[in-house]
Amino acid sequence: MTDDMNTYEVSCRTCRTKFKVQLFDSHEKNLFVADKKDWYCDQCKKEYFKKQTSQLSKTHKDIGFSELEGTEKMISWAETIRAELINKVNYLKQNLTFATESDKNTSDRAFEEFFSRWQAEKNAKWWIDNRKMTVRDISKQIAEISEELRK
Ligand SMILES: [Zn+2]
Repeated sequence: MTDDMNTYEVSCRTCRTKFKVQLFDSHEKNLFVADKKDWYCDQCKKEYFKKQTSQLSKTHKDIGFSELEGTEKMISWAETIRAELINKVNYLKQNLTFATESDKNTSDRAFEEFFSRWQAEKNAKWWIDNRKMTVRDISKQIAEISEELRK
């Protein structure tokens, strides 16, 4: 058996360039997939990620976040992570309940403080290093900042 047996020609949905892919199901199924799936060539994929990154950069800039520094690849990854982490913070914020108005005010200030630290973080590597941060981790940090503010 040669590799050729598993190689199928497909065309890019965006630019119509033909390229080869390897598929490992039955020949019949492979033909179906090669025909029906939305394929994108490497160049168009790259363009797509580039566009996605610049859109995320803009969105983050609009909410006061820094422009990231690092290699193109790192920045692209870091922007995605940053978007996910911001979602986690927002999720946490929306799901908190407070016994008193004063607790709520302290928490709001803690979130502001927390966000301002993140807004200043411009190293793509920092975001990548922190990609595993969970809602629970964030909650812990907010609690620590709240504690500081109460003093
Ligand atoms: Zn293409």
